[in-house]
Amino acid sequence: MPRPFTTLPAADDWPPVLRRHGLRATSATLGVLGVMRRAEVPMTHEEIQRAYAREFGAPPDKVTLYRVLERLTGAGLCDTLAGADRRNRFALHASGSGHVFECSCCHKVLPLPDDPELPAALARLGKALKRQGIRAQASAVTLRGTCADCGRHAA
Ligand SMILES: [Zn+2]
Repeated sequence: MPRPFTTLPAADDWPPVLRRHGLRATSATLGVLGVMRRAEVPMTHEEIQRAYAREFGAPPDKVTLYRVLERLTGAGLCDTLAGADRRNRFALHASGSGHVFECSCCHKVLPLPDDPELPAALARLGKALKRQGIRAQASAVTLRGTCADCGRHAA
């Protein structure tokens, strides 16, 4: 379960943050964080690996990358989003609400536009579930449909 997390460093001042979460500031970890900070949408393992290679040269091997992402997710520094294509995508925890749109054709994942009413609506749902004895925790909304690109091709 991700621990509550409040502040992300403004620039690339990750080492103290990582230490606070009991993680080592390895070059692989720092590189992955750098890649995710610049990413506009959640990325798959492969996308992270490719972006890492573009920016820093040789990327960490698959196993190392999986471990880094697992540790960052466990520490609440990054979020894992499971797509309908059964692939996980990763994003920095602060890079949005976790609410996403996923295209049913190409499985592109985009952050949802900010909606000031959404947190209140989710809180209401949480309360309604609580009355049924259900304790809801993470609340990420996923809307599915056809993205602009796929919609154009279909037309
Ligand atoms: Zn699409």
